[in-house]
Amino acid sequence: MNYQVDENGFYGPFGGAYVPEILYKCVHDLQEAYRPIIESREFKEEYYQLLRDYVGRPSPLYLAKRMSERYNCRLYLKREDLNHTGAHKINNTIGQILLARKMGKKRIIAETGAGQHGVATATVCALMGMQCEIFMGATDVQRQHTNVERMRMLGAVVHPVRTGNMTLSDACSQAIRDWCCHPADTFYIVGSTMGPHPYPDIVARMQSVISEEIKTQLLEKTGRDYPDCLVACIGGGSNAAGTIYHYMDDDRVRIVLAEAGGRGIYTDFTAATIHRGTEGILHGARTLVMQTDDGQIKEAFTISAGLDYPGIGPMHANMALQKRTEVLAINDDEAIRAGYELTRMEGIIPAIESAHAIAALQHLQFSPEQVVVLTVSGRGDKDVETYLNNKDKAGEYGRF
Ligand SMILES: *Cc1c(COP(=O)(O)O)cnc(C)c1O
Repeated sequence: MNYQVDENGFYGPFGGAYVPEILYKCVHDLQEAYRPIIESREFKEEYYQLLRDYVGRPSPLYLAKRMSERYNCRLYLKREDLNHTGAHKINNTIGQILLARKMGKKRIIAETGAGQHGVATATVCALMGMQCEIFMGATDVQRQHTNVERMRMLGAVVHPVRTGNMTLSDACSQAIRDWCCHPADTFYIVGSTMGPHPYPDIVARMQSVISEEIKTQLLEKTGRDYPDCLVACIGGGSNAAGTIYHYMDDDRVRIVLAEAGGRGIYTDFTAATIHRGTEGILHGARTLVMQTDDGQIKEAFTISAGLDYPGIGPMHANMALQKRTEVLAINDDEAIRAGYELTRMEGIIPAIESAHAIAALQHLQFSPEQVVVLTVSGRGDKDVETYLNNKDKAGEYGRF
């Protein structure tokens, strides 16, 4: 089984490029251009140099001793939280801005939910001296005010989006509308493994540095370049794609992904798209979508702004369909508790998104010699208030 994109831009039944006619040319140009550029020596040299000297890669692979004991395995944490700007998102924005520059684009646009991708995009635009405009739901602009201020300080213009629920999904739609108005000079930096082909493939390749490093680091630390199990959280799917990229076809490696159950997958307050979604088209791709029977997009609900998306990357929709990945829905309260647990057991405050991956551990059975690699996609500084407001859900860790 091959889980990579095919020559038509599909992953099994999912993917493709369903865009308005006005974008045909620029999406087609990108389809033609992206592989030769990112496979070129010139691109790779600059990309890897920036990842090393600017982002701070390779990110450490850390053996979490106390958590290993608790979960009866050898648990290694892949520390994407230690990257510049605090999450894995920068791996992708560095790559896409180099691609944009090579294609002669002058103006950068991006969507953002929690603001993490907006900040990572504004950061690389400052680095390259390029014009940057960010679309963000008006609700999120209020909820994630610090990230809005960071983007503005970095020189980006932030456009609050007032359509729909005024959250991430609406910001994506607005970014696509803007792109339609400026197809010639604008490059859209997509933040996850979503959107029309070739974006899911571009983002997966940019994040694949995560599993490239895991291979080398595991070989050094365990004498074997593969784990028994990989664990990551999944919103659109970019940190998960990066974590599994070099192991997708390796049957020795079990893959467990944690999506956001919100208040529970059988309630209306969930973002668990793989559990609850049905086939549809969202933001340029055929994929699983949370929608009503007549095809209206439903709002996603989760405590985690970074997982708050009613779609899922087509690559992940297909891998779940083929049963290559096991997808667990983790509810808000489980994620909160797991965030506190990692904080108290290892001294690492994870992003609330990453805490969903930690919470998956309690649902899995291991034996002491098994090697598990879990990606900590981001740091929890942005979520301290959320953690504190929910400390009643943290069990023994919440009594302080
Ligand atoms: C954005 C974000 C996510 C979710 O996005 P993916 O594309 O699914 O990785 C997860 N963790 C953090 C820290 C994020 O900022």
